[in-house]
Amino acid sequence: MTQTIASIPDLQGKAVLITGASTGIGAALARAFADQGCSVGLHYNSSVEAAEKLGEEIRAAGGKVTLVRADATSASAMAGAVEETAAAFGRLDGLINNAGGMVARLDYADMTEEHYDAVMDLNARSVLLACKAALPHLKRQGGGFIINTTSIAARNGASGGAGLYGSSKAFISNVTRGMAKEFIAHNIRANAVAPGIVLTPFHERYSSEAQMQAALRTIPQGRFGTVEDCIGTYLFLASERLSPYIIGQTIEVNGGQLMP
Ligand code: NAD
Repeated sequence: MTQTIASIPDLQGKAVLITGASTGIGAALARAFADQGCSVGLHYNSSVEAAEKLGEEIRAAGGKVTLVRADATSASAMAGAVEETAAAFGRLDGLINNAGGMVARLDYADMTEEHYDAVMDLNARSVLLACKAALPHLKRQGGGFIINTTSIAARNGASGGAGLYGSSKAFISNVTRGMAKEFIAHNIRANAVAPGIVLTPFHERYSSEAQMQAALRTIPQGRFGTVEDCIGTYLFLASERLSPYIIGQTIEVNGGQLMP
């Protein structure tokens, strides 16, 4: 396989479920973890074609992958995706909760209960249940990792109309701290990654050109992030060798846009 990043020996042979892995950051993670010799559970829902194409690409490069379809707005479906991945590989060593989104930009002034449910189901409820489902499998392996994807929006109140989304990610940042304390008894390290503004279908969907240009002026590094900018942080947190004493942390990957 083409190694774009140096080999991390302790990741070799590990089975990892990556949610929302057909596009954006998740797709880059699927490639990167497969490159490291991990068996990858590639979770997707609506992007069938992209998921199948990526699965073929990974297999053609010699990687191990299984495709798992589930709607991330359904917590029970996401718990099912965990079981399916563990069954396909006979083990599960890591869970990367990456599926998520704003659903829509809506000001707090216009908030509805339907919007609350949609945002929290996708970004919070399903993450909790996927982690719960992963726990017995990770315990069985004698340890493992959980990496949640939060956001810069979890700390700064979010951009216009994304407030509830940011709050759902803040919830997950704190869930990560609590899980880290609880799960470390089983040698399971829980951490989170908080991307800043990364060029993926996410912003094509939710952000106007004017919003992007205004945001660009607030990034000290003078550019938006790429999916490749995110990969190393996830690999680092997944590797017990590289981050053995890091739990409950959120690593900000944002070009200096926010330095908490
Ligand atoms: P993306 O839209 O390409 O990826 C989101 C993934 O989640 C997609 O694969 C999508 O299919 C999946 N998803 C969304 N709703 C789903 C559903 N109901 N069922 C199943 N899957 C569903 O965008 P991305 O930027 O790669 O986002 C990845 C993660 O990073 C998300 O959690 C997002 O909130 C977070 N994030 C992104 C940015 C950014 O600037 N791109 C910034 C901060 C946080």
